[in-house]
Amino acid sequence: MPNRPIRASLPGRADQVLARVEAAREEIVAFTADMIRIPTVNPPGELYRDCAELIGRRLGEAGLDVQYVEAEGPAAHTAEYPRVNVVGRGVGGGAGKRIHLNGHFDVVPPGEGWSVDPFGGVVKDGRIYGRGASDMKSGIAAAVFAVESIRRAGCDLRGAVDISGTVDEESGGFAGVAHLCRTGLVSSRNTDYAIIPEPFGPDRVCVGHRGVYWFDVVARGRTAHGSMPHLGRSAIDDMGAVLEAFRIRLAPRLAARRSALPVVPGPSRRPSLNVNAVEGGQTGGADQSPCVADRCTATFDRRFIPEESWDEVRAEIIDLVGRVEAADPGRRLGVVDRLVVHPVQAPPGSPVVAALSHAIREVRGREATLVASPGTYDQKHFDRIAGVEHCVAYGPGPLAEAHQPDESCAVDDLVACTQVLALAVLELAGLDAR
Ligand SMILES: [Zn+2]
Repeated sequence: MPNRPIRASLPGRADQVLARVEAAREEIVAFTADMIRIPTVNPPGELYRDCAELIGRRLGEAGLDVQYVEAEGPAAHTAEYPRVNVVGRGVGGGAGKRIHLNGHFDVVPPGEGWSVDPFGGVVKDGRIYGRGASDMKSGIAAAVFAVESIRRAGCDLRGAVDISGTVDEESGGFAGVAHLCRTGLVSSRNTDYAIIPEPFGPDRVCVGHRGVYWFDVVARGRTAHGSMPHLGRSAIDDMGAVLEAFRIRLAPRLAARRSALPVVPGPSRRPSLNVNAVEGGQTGGADQSPCVADRCTATFDRRFIPEESWDEVRAEIIDLVGRVEAADPGRRLGVVDRLVVHPVQAPPGSPVVAALSHAIREVRGREATLVASPGTYDQKHFDRIAGVEHCVAYGPGPLAEAHQPDESCAVDDLVACTQVLALAVLELAGLDAR
């Protein structure tokens, strides 16, 4: 019975699972706090093994077959900072669908401005505080206890659930989810549905994300004595012309485009362009000698919507930079690609979206809001490398607090999301009645 809300088909069992989650409230909070107390800061990627093993022990207790997967090869993987992922395989499941719940356990550096210890795992006034409380150690706890609560309720799944804790999402996920996908540990042959409990909150299902195009514009001038700049050519001045063209000619075009993808917050439904960095001349030091800058590089972060193809996005940039160059005979400009991530979106009518929507209705008493992310996350690897297109994000925590000081997650939201995940898993994996 695909897509039939599980609570309607097996009301007693579903209610038992929900009760098991509620009964595990203190354990869920404690496990989240324990993860927060391991500062898995990326960069450089600290204490990954410790956190992987903490998660692995819990997965073992939940009855999964635990395996540690070190990403070999990527430059980021060193003896000092090993890239250790953990994968728990759900046993059984020959007769039904396989679901993969994945969370990254790396966190961004704490930064300034905290009123509590960012790695203290502080719980007060119904909230868990700390770096990773929202993005996304609470999400990992929700995934683990969704499955553990199903086990405690004595349910036999027709399918099976795998859970992984992975590294480096904050720096692209190449030694994390991408590694699991490249090596076949996650593939469309062993995974039907994937849910990533990134912090979109208890009522929102994130169906995809915009695309990313990072590129450099390089301006080349000619150096000369700074007291006689007319004898040289300033690459910084030429970069100024590029910045102005982007602002005056490109920005209005981007503002006129709007995606059908429900990207939040609202303004991110349009494509965007950010100047990430500008470097030219004698940067970085207080001591300067008088020189005309002969080189200037600016790095741009262009986010594109599914309605734009990357070829068009890139051609538009190259055309505009070419026009700026042609406007002055002495100007020398070039465009260098850095990175492209294509937009992804779960297929319309995906069973994973339906199951989460049913579960949100049951647990929260309201309709799910489907959203899309302005930024990218590991969904791209599930989709593009593993071919698991039925992948979405759903998890606890306010997205707005991700990467902020005093990052936190409401305990009630954490418990509710755990319940929603548990019901969604029951629906997708199916339940053997006994
Ligand atoms: Zn995240």
